[in-house]
Amino acid sequence: MPVKITENDGQLEFRQSEGGLATGLGSIYQQGDNMWLGWPGLEVNSAEKQDEIKDKLKDLSLFPVFLTQDEINLYYEGFSNETLWPIFHYHPTYAHYEQSYWDSYLAVNHKFKEAIFKVAEAGDIIWIHDYQLLLLAGLIRDEQPDITIGFFLHIPFPSYELFRLIPWRAELLENMLGADLIGFHTFDDARHFISSTTRLLPVHATANQINYNDRQIVVEAFPMGIDAEKFESLTVNPTVLENVALLKESFQDLKMILSIDRLDYSKGILQRLQAFDILLQKNPEYIDHVVMYMIVVPSRDTVPQYKELRDEIDKLVGNINARYRTLNWIPVHYYYRSFEIEMLSALYHVAEVCLVTPMRDGMNLVSKEYVASRTANTGVLILSEMAGAVKELIDAVIVNPNNVGELYRAMIEALSMPIEEQKRRMIPMREVVAKFNVRHWVKIYMNQLKEVKELQASMQ
Ligand code: UDP
Repeated sequence: MPVKITENDGQLEFRQSEGGLATGLGSIYQQGDNMWLGWPGLEVNSAEKQDEIKDKLKDLSLFPVFLTQDEINLYYEGFSNETLWPIFHYHPTYAHYEQSYWDSYLAVNHKFKEAIFKVAEAGDIIWIHDYQLLLLAGLIRDEQPDITIGFFLHIPFPSYELFRLIPWRAELLENMLGADLIGFHTFDDARHFISSTTRLLPVHATANQINYNDRQIVVEAFPMGIDAEKFESLTVNPTVLENVALLKESFQDLKMILSIDRLDYSKGILQRLQAFDILLQKNPEYIDHVVMYMIVVPSRDTVPQYKELRDEIDKLVGNINARYRTLNWIPVHYYYRSFEIEMLSALYHVAEVCLVTPMRDGMNLVSKEYVASRTANTGVLILSEMAGAVKELIDAVIVNPNNVGELYRAMIEALSMPIEEQKRRMIPMREVVAKFNVRHWVKIYMNQLKEVKELQASMQ
């Protein structure tokens, strides 16, 4: 959900969620007559508390689907984050295949189906989002053959060689094909999906259409945008300007390299730190003159690999700071927590360089938010070739995130890039981010969904 609920001393607190999907869609779902069903992010056992939450969220057109602690463990942390996430992000050695995870995944997808049937009315369009609900379209379709369903995957869809490793691969695909339109961030993801379906299921596929059980399903790339206007206008917000002034005072003559991610092994955080270490080692002239401002937002830290990653980051940051710090200067300013958007905007505004180097990322919205916030057209974005965003932000300094030497050289290039060159790159990127914004994304997706229904009708 776009709102995250936490409990503090028995009191419920409602905060904005982090993460691409929540921030991206959060600003637009309230326009029009939409309802958002989702898990509110905490375990709630008592019926009164559940009702209290339901009441509060209703005004925001949000409908909570509650999960038990078992479902959180097996469905959410288990199948979603320990099976699908690592496979879809090309980390097969991190994947666990547990029957109990799968059983719970199926049960929770059923639970969402029931919740939808409680609130949906005839003629409603159902738009399902992301890897936690891969079965939902098929489960709905089984009961309502004529309903209109869109599905969008916000993470990469892996190559067949990875996807085939999942024991329940055929069931996943069959149920995804319950949708009328299946959207991905990039053309490569769409291609991988079509390739997996043609190899694993008795389907007919031509270009971007799949015929399955006598239904025509369209598969396409829709790169998700951000609310670019919001990020542009934040740059003149009084709180943001105050934060900018404070940051400028603290980092007076220092150049800032900014890094913002959720804690995740797909984000390439350690390699980024290693490259910064090399920078300070090989180019001591940067000591006292450059800082890395690194935000890591806590995420899934009950999953063992995430805990380990956190420890590794702590160690590496400690090591770099201990070796290079001087009396008045610390090389890495590391925060393991989330920040308000007014602080993020100020950081986007102040940082000369933004370093976005995931090993794999469906899209990566931080890169687009940085670009949208650079209203003076200066600043350098270093972007991984494995992020979906690279297909649009082609004027970034593009790197292979596994190549630490290349990351190091990219940082040097960015720190010494002439202003004219910065502008030459930033202006077209800002145009792309402003034009292909999140509103545009919703519009073209919904138009396409309508066309798919017309296509299906014409073939009957
Ligand atoms: N974000 C946030 N608070 C923070 C750090 C990040 O709200 O302290 C937001 C950020 O603005 C961005 C999202 O989290 O919109 C991260 O999305 P992205 O696509 O980059 O990565 P994801 O977390 O979805 O993998």
